[in-house]
Amino acid sequence: MRRKLVIGNWKMNGSRDSINTLLSGIIAGLGAQSAQKADVAVCAPAPYLAQCQQMLAATPVAWGSQDVSAYAAGAYTGEVAASMLNDFGCRYAIVGHSERRAYHGESNELVAQKALAAVTAGLTPVVCVGETLEQREAGQTSVVVCAQLQAVMDVLETALLSKIVLAYEPVWAIGTGKTATPAMAQEVHAELRKQLATRSAEVAQGMQILYGGSMKPDNARELMAQPDIDGGLIGGAALKAADFLGIIYAA
Ligand code: PGA
Repeated sequence: MRRKLVIGNWKMNGSRDSINTLLSGIIAGLGAQSAQKADVAVCAPAPYLAQCQQMLAATPVAWGSQDVSAYAAGAYTGEVAASMLNDFGCRYAIVGHSERRAYHGESNELVAQKALAAVTAGLTPVVCVGETLEQREAGQTSVVVCAQLQAVMDVLETALLSKIVLAYEPVWAIGTGKTATPAMAQEVHAELRKQLATRSAEVAQGMQILYGGSMKPDNARELMAQPDIDGGLIGGAALKAADFLGIIYAA
């Protein structure tokens, strides 16, 4: 039985004050739900990781980064190493988000190296895959997401592969209000799990595969009821405690 996992991806949003309000709201809301069935985390901009650690250390909510360097240390201006994320208690590191692939030219190979750096340091990489609208309309969805996953499978030996989380995020659904239907998402999730099984049936069965792309309290239940959808990677709806809690309750 895979546990459900709900991760907030704040992207480049927030301030010390707004994060204080948001996390206080989440903590208060979760307090009422004592027997939590889902794992919960927030992925913050790097400058706020210390604040997350301070506010969340004694709570069931984990925290993480939105990116990580493929390199361990050295002359890489602006990069943040996995060891630094560990220093601030991070559990997760998102890698290969479509915004990084699109705006920062991250290739499948670089994303795979980032996943390797994260998992080697003991972090859980949340590896994002997803097709653009053009690719979907050209019937390329499966080819694109499988190539993105395969690049990661090529660099992670089975023991390390078993420690990652996958997120299917159709690019056309991110921040657009357009959600994949549960059936559309399920089809891709099943495909990804099938590809993982070419390496190991056990890893495939154990892998948490999250859906991301305009998940909201009112569509979360139906999406997460699909057999291969193990939770959500939430952007816009993770910025308000009530919305984020609504999704956690749905899980
Ligand atoms: P969204 O973003 O929920 O705002 O669509 C999801 C994501 O990009 O992770």
